Parts: sequence; C-alpha cells; structure tokens
Amino acid sequence: TNMTLLSPTPSHFHMPQNSPKNKNVAVIGAGSAGLVTARELHREGHSVVVFERENQLGGTWVYTPATESDPIGIDPNREIAHSSLYLSLRVNLPRKVMGYRDYPFVAKKKPNRDPRRYPGHKEVLDYLKDFAVDFGLIGLVRFGMEVGHVGLLENGKWKVSSKKRENDVVFVHEEYDAVVICNGHYTEPRTADIPGLEVWPGKQIHSHNYRVPDPFRDQVVVLIGSAASATDISREIAEVAKEVHISSRSATSGVPLKLPGYDNVWQHSMIESVGIDGGVNFRDGSKVLADIILHCTGYKYHFPFLETNGIVTVDDNRVGPLYKHIFPPAFAPSLSFVGLPWKVIPFPLCELQSKWIAGILSGRISLPSKEDMNADIEAFYSSMEASCIPKRYTHNMDDYQFDYDDWLAAECGSPLSEEWRKQMYFISRKNKKTQPETYRDQWDDDDLIIQAHEDFVKYIP
Ligand code: FAD
Repeated sequence: TNMTLLSPTPSHFHMPQNSPKNKNVAVIGAGSAGLVTARELHREGHSVVVFERENQLGGTWVYTPATESDPIGIDPNREIAHSSLYLSLRVNLPRKVMGYRDYPFVAKKKPNRDPRRYPGHKEVLDYLKDFAVDFGLIGLVRFGMEVGHVGLLENGKWKVSSKKRENDVVFVHEEYDAVVICNGHYTEPRTADIPGLEVWPGKQIHSHNYRVPDPFRDQVVVLIGSAASATDISREIAEVAKEVHISSRSATSGVPLKLPGYDNVWQHSMIESVGIDGGVNFRDGSKVLADIILHCTGYKYHFPFLETNGIVTVDDNRVGPLYKHIFPPAFAPSLSFVGLPWKVIPFPLCELQSKWIAGILSGRISLPSKEDMNADIEAFYSSMEASCIPKRYTHNMDDYQFDYDDWLAAECGSPLSEEWRKQMYFISRKNKKTQPETYRDQWDDDDLIIQAHEDFVKYIP
C-alpha cells in the first residue's frame, strides 16, 4: 500500500513507511552551521550527537593567536589552527542581517558586550554561546572529539570513527542513521600557482595565518587577492609596512595605481612570475623587490575523513554531485552538507538548510527521486558551463542566495526572507565596495533598522 495516496497533506509532506521517524544523527562540527543543525534536528525529534574537535563551540569565531607551523598550509602533517580570524576583525555584514532568522543578533545589555552594528569577532562568539545555551545544545556536543573517518556500512548506516584530539591511538567507532557535515571551509588554504615561487627567497604566508600587522613592519609586501580579508588586511598592514602592493585578478592591466588615501599602497594586475632575486613581476610590466608575499587567495573544501568510494568528490572546489548544495543523490538523505555556499549570509542560510534536512530525515518532507535529483544537478552544471562560469564558483551564490533561501523556506513551510534583510544586505554590500574604510561606522539605512526591530519583537522576550 502507498501511504502517500491516503495522505491529506500536499504530496511532498508525507510519511514514508517502514522507517522510524526519529533518526540517530551525527553532526560534524559545532560552529554556527553545526549548532543550528543540532537545534533543527533536535526540534524535529531526532537524536543528535555533535562532534567537535576543539574544546569549545564557535568554529571560525574562536579567535586564536596561534598560527600553523607551515605559514602557507601545505604540509599535511602540520597542527591545524582552525580559525582564520585576525585580531582586529569586525564583521562585514550588519548584525541584524547576519543573525539566525528566529534568534536575532541584537545588542545585549550585558557587561563586556559589543553593541556596534558591525561588532568585533568576540561578539559573534558570545552570540553563538547564548544561542547554544538558550536552546540546550551544549549537552549534545562531544568536545575535543575529532572525527577521523566516516563511511557507509552494508546495513545502510554510517560508521563514524572519532578520537580524542590529543590521543591519536584510541578510536571510538559508532553507527548512525545519518551524518550531517558542518566542518567549515575556511581552514585549508588555497595558494596561487606562480612560476618561480620555489626559488623565490622571501617569506610567504597565507591569510589563514595572519593575526596582527606587527611582523610586516618596514617590509615590502605583495598581497594577492581582492576579497573581504584582502581588503581589510591590506589597509591594516599599510599602517606599518614600507610598501604594500596588491595584486588582483580584477585590476585591469596598465600601470600600477596608487590606492586612494594611501601613499604606500599600489594596485597591480596579476603576477606573471617571481625570481631568485626576490623580484615579483606583474603582468602590467612592473616589478617590485619584495620581502613577503601574503596569499589572500581563499580556501579549499576539505573532508579528509569522508570515505565515499569516489562518489562524492571535490573537483576544483566543486563538492559534488550535490542536490541543492546539500545531498549527494547516491546517499540521500542519510549524508548531507550544511554551509557550503559562499558569498551569502551564512547563519540564516544554514538554518534553512538544516531545517530542510531535519524534515526530510523524519519523512515530513520528501526528496525527489534519485533520477530527478541527478537531472537537476546536471542541468545546474550545464548552465554554469554554458555561461562560462568556472567550476570553483559552483557554491558561489552571490546573486541568487535569497531565491535559494526562499526555495528552502517553501519546502519547509517557513516564512520567506524578510524584505528588510534583502535590502539591508544589498545596501551594505554596495557600501562595502564604495567605502571599504568607513562602511562599518557610517550608513543611512536607519529605516531598515527600524523595520528589522519591528520584525524581531516576536522573537525577543
Ligand atoms: P566553522 O565555523 O568553521 O565550524 C566548523 C567546526 O567544525 C569547527 O568548530 C571545527 O573545529 C569543527 N571540525 C572540523 N573538522 C572536524 C572534525 N574532523 N571532527 C570534529 N570537528 C571538526 N560570516 C558572517 O556571517 N559574517 C562575517 O562577518 C564573516 N566574516 C568572516 C571572516 C573570516 C576571516 C572568515 C574566515 C569567515 C567569515 N565569515 C563571516 C564566514 C564564517 O565562516 C561563517 O560565519 C561561519 O562561522 C561558518 O560556520 P561553519 O559552522 O560552517 O564553520
């Protein structure tokens, strides 16, 4: 018998037969993605264990002065420092935009909190701690436990092997009905491939290991990249360095341009090559004798613990094949990923992704057939190819994140994205571009702040 035929609810809200509603689920990581995933799974009635290799929650938002032994992060045996935060970091989204949808990130009248609209990083960690306490999540987390291996068993369950981080020998092996991967993707550095780097005599460092500007004092620095951290770090270093030369893909060729407002910062084209004499040769024909190359060139998706017999791969930073950036069809719904999209507002996006996963695991929401999911993925990849978008942009959602969020929200029966959040996001993005030094302290969208507060009233006791 087919229960869906008897069901009065819409076709995609049905209860599959023969499978218990409540699943045993392992969540890997207790950052902002893993925490909200734990909450959604728990709310849906699943049993949840969160594995977290650090001794505290928060992932990216746990600042550490420690850096890695290999400053460009190539040595596979290096001790990993998870977070890429630098000491001075302030968020790059207005806090009201940034927070989870039903747990507003508003200023709190408590000691040692940072009420600014674009607060420093510690305020985010404090917010995540509040979130974990308010939803009773701490008890679900196994701190100091690193997942070393995840693989499918013949009985359809997943074997999860974990160990105490400081103890490399004793593994705990367990079986789970499902695994949700929330391990973050700002830890494994990606560096530019530049001819001559192997003989170039200067120092190299990846922004993952950048904390404070002091080591750059009086140095001639070439900084590669133009994304968020490159913008912040280049300005911070300029205060102490002798010269800062920014090399970016986006800079047009032609002569190097002085950065407005600075007398020791230049914008260059991409690097052509570097030489044994310490020279850095740019495509625009200019050459600089530099002491340090700072790679602000982004990160790689990295799942060293995941064993899928080659079914799920990372190819030129495309994690695939994945339906809606979440489920590999071959293993859906028992294996899923939360938090892969970038150029997005991560907290609310992860909230919706995990709500959807939780509802699918309990059978309240259903997935299309494997064939239909694969066809959807194929169509997505083909459309990228037709538009000449490189593979490494697969999870870049820049212009369609709100469509994506709203698609998930509709699946979950949740409210769509708030109008103020969309507008505030686009305004802040524009301001960040046009006034990178001042956007965190000057704005003129107070009307949207008021709208956000009117909306938040229903969530703030
Ligand atoms: P993470 O926070 O990285 O958490 C992953 C967790 O998984 C970690 O705690 C890690 O220890 C754990 N883990 C990994 N592997 C294992 C394993 N094998 N076993 C057990 N545990 C494991 N976002 C914003 O919204 N606003 C901002 O202003 C902003 N600024 C940023 C600035 C920088 C420099 C960076 C790098 C990111 C910034 N982000 C910002 C994005 C930020 O990464 C996300 O906000 C978010 O914190 C990502 O959460 P996550 O849970 O996906 O990953």
